[in-house]
Amino acid sequence: MELKGKVIVVTGAGQGLGLNTSLALAARGASLALVDLDEEHLANAVKLCEEAGAQARSYKADVASESDVERLFTEVVSDFGALDGTVNNAGITRDGLLVKAKDGKIIKKMDIKEWQTVIDVNLTGVFLCAREAAARMIELGRPGVIINISSISRAGNFGQTNYAAAKAGVAAMTVTWAKELARYGIRVAAIAPGFVNTPMVASMNPHALEKLEGGIPLKRLAHPDEIAHTAVFLFENDYVTGRVMEVDGGLRI
Ligand code: NAP
Repeated sequence: MELKGKVIVVTGAGQGLGLNTSLALAARGASLALVDLDEEHLANAVKLCEEAGAQARSYKADVASESDVERLFTEVVSDFGALDGTVNNAGITRDGLLVKAKDGKIIKKMDIKEWQTVIDVNLTGVFLCAREAAARMIELGRPGVIINISSISRAGNFGQTNYAAAKAGVAAMTVTWAKELARYGIRVAAIAPGFVNTPMVASMNPHALEKLEGGIPLKRLAHPDEIAHTAVFLFENDYVTGRVMEVDGGLRI
């Protein structure tokens, strides 16, 4: 897909990977529908995309809410008159052990709320955004591209029962949708980043972060631009579908 003039939705566009990806798409002439919960971050993202020469509009929406997501895609099509792609990027972490024990006694269990919140945003949010994007693309009779953000943690990661389950689900949905939607000219692909230098990772304990970097074959975190670059590649390469692209500096967890 040639990105110039295309209308792309990016969720979680207020900061981190979503913002960098939006800017990379803006630099290639795409028009951006920027989605987030934080209005201040959104206003800044719109300004930065416009400075990069793109048309951009902000949409405050919770990707975990069916009514928000349905309204979002209706508004995007009405505002731009088109929809060519979406980057389902919004995500959160609520890390914790399944069960924590001391001297044979259970002192903490993963709370159902910590489980459910991550599943709602990271799994259901991707499902809702992809469903609405695909429906609008089919109604508009246009080809499109859906990119989902999975994670290296989809293989299973210590302290991330909820997050790993959601990200494994995102990878599986990507393959499923690629098979179902190819007949409509819609490609679906995912990116599984390793550890990227964004606000999500900056909140980690500095010692744990240093140890983690030491274990990455390339000995550093990814720069958000390196993930954004992969999203651009997935949009532009018309023969990629149903695949999860690993961008992790060679790390295996
Ligand atoms: P981030 O810096 O925390 O940014 C996430 C963005 O998503 C924030 O702007 C946040 O808004 C927004 N968001 C959260 N919940 C939302 C909701 N329910 N509806 C709409 N927007 C919502 O995270 P990031 O590091 O850029 O991560 C982006 C994606 O990459 C996530 O899916 C993450 O799991 C994945 N990923 C990240 C890494 C990494 O190392 N950073 C590695 C692998 C995968 P608020 O600020 O208002 O909450």
